[in-house]
Amino acid sequence: MIKKNAERIISELPSYVELVAAAKFTDTVQITEAIQGGVKIIGENYVQEAENDFKDIGNKVKWHFIGHLQRNKVKKAVKIFDMIETLDSQRLAKTINKESAKIGKIMPVLIEINSAIEENKSGILPEGLDDFVKSIIDLPNLNIQGLMTMGPLSDEPQDIRPYFKKAKNLFDRVKDKYADKLDFRYLSMGMTHSYKVAIEEGANIVRIGTAIFGNR
Ligand SMILES: *Cc1c(COP(=O)(O)O)cnc(C)c1O
Repeated sequence: MIKKNAERIISELPSYVELVAAAKFTDTVQITEAIQGGVKIIGENYVQEAENDFKDIGNKVKWHFIGHLQRNKVKKAVKIFDMIETLDSQRLAKTINKESAKIGKIMPVLIEINSAIEENKSGILPEGLDDFVKSIIDLPNLNIQGLMTMGPLSDEPQDIRPYFKKAKNLFDRVKDKYADKLDFRYLSMGMTHSYKVAIEEGANIVRIGTAIFGNR
């Protein structure tokens, strides 16, 4: 079932859109089925879970961190992940930079945007994005490649559309402003119920869990 789900979704995505299979609360058997269905990127919310999965599965796929990253987990995270999608503070940026430098890695990151300005959500506020980029742009072991957003929780994907639009506008602005300094190219937004709308609004990474793995 998981393999079929993955195959179907991949066949329906435009070719420029990358699928991250959001694997929280799965096991390596389920992840392996998704890989057999063509999944190339696994999204992990927890460093501990990722370590276990990585031990079994290794480098035959890419690993994206999509949860809230605590600074005391960064040392482990930079070893495993090919991208950290949820950079949401200057302190975290500095820690990622430092730990990546120690292992000789330049860490691809996306900046998480709190696009709906929700109090209980992490992410940089839209109005603070320019200053945030300025504050981290010279960290040598970060490669800032784009933006990620969750958008508000809603059963109605059309309600999320304005926030996806907003994220795309912010993405275009930063991309233009720093065209000579950054390789800014990824906009990660959209989950099981919202990925089609997100793609219409410019996403080129979608993070899908339930539609692949079922309800966990
Ligand atoms: C779980 C999760 C997803 C996938 O959500 P589904 O609705 O199961 O597709 C995407 N992004 C993040 C950050 C998640 O934690």
